[in-house]
Amino acid sequence: MSASEPVFRRVEEGVFTYSRPLGKHGPSVASVLFMGPESVLAFDTLCGPRDMTLFSKMAGDRQVYVAYSHADWDHCLGTGAFGSPVVVAHEFTRGRLLAPSHPELEAVRRESPDLVKGAEMVLPCLTFTSTVALDLERTPHLSLRASGGKGRRSAVNPIQPVLTGEPSGRRIELRHLPGHTADSCVAYDVTTGILAAGDAAEDPLPSIGDPRSLSAWISGLREWAARARRVIPGHGPVSGPELLKRNAKYLRSVVGIIKEASSKGTPPESLTAEFGLERAFPEIMTSLSSMDPREREFYLEVHRENLFRTWTALS
Ligand SMILES: [Zn+2]
Repeated sequence: MSASEPVFRRVEEGVFTYSRPLGKHGPSVASVLFMGPESVLAFDTLCGPRDMTLFSKMAGDRQVYVAYSHADWDHCLGTGAFGSPVVVAHEFTRGRLLAPSHPELEAVRRESPDLVKGAEMVLPCLTFTSTVALDLERTPHLSLRASGGKGRRSAVNPIQPVLTGEPSGRRIELRHLPGHTADSCVAYDVTTGILAAGDAAEDPLPSIGDPRSLSAWISGLREWAARARRVIPGHGPVSGPELLKRNAKYLRSVVGIIKEASSKGTPPESLTAEFGLERAFPEIMTSLSSMDPREREFYLEVHRENLFRTWTALS
């Protein structure tokens, strides 16, 4: 199998992943399909509609929900592959999608146009602040479906959560978990105990884009570790709750390293990639050393940025 080919996997009954390699832009990114009898949920739609062709076929004539883990370009641009999905996202995600410019996406369009071919920002018709539940055993209320749609047309009046009645046998909770970005959320399948974590969890280490949410992020990861049976991160292999614990430990250690560094007056320029890594994270160093050189470099750079951003937020 070529490392440039996407990979489809059945995780277990009714739960599937589709991973898209990102080449020089980072490690592969995964979308998760939760299949219920009446509806399906695609959690993230990746880089363009071709990434969702298979999930769209699998959905058949079921109602499709799409939810975005956050608005980064590798997670939300393939929604156009679905006929008339009900698109759900955190209210901050909607705000990010509505931004007048998207420099990161424009850079990828220039450097790797094939990767984002046909990419389109489909805005959510349903937004939430803290949490919302989707019921895959029922089709959504007609008025909601009627006001779904693509593009900025649906931006005018996002509908507030009114989707579900009594809890059913196939209930998916979407819950805000900021820290990677301010708009990040996770999807929890109550039936299977599977948590699709987006970029709120990552193997070997997550990227801190919103350092002011670090303490909420750390406690959220611990809570999910106590609840989830399996974890599917946006980047990295399917894991157990230990991934959440490891990520929480990493984040806590980063906070400790930065507090110590700033108390000693260490300037931010000294926060090089290896700073603190070997001392505080021997297990991360071990997994980095077994990676291919490009991924290893990628995560060392993520760690360096994590230190710098945390230093900036906490100092
Ligand atoms: Zn990502």
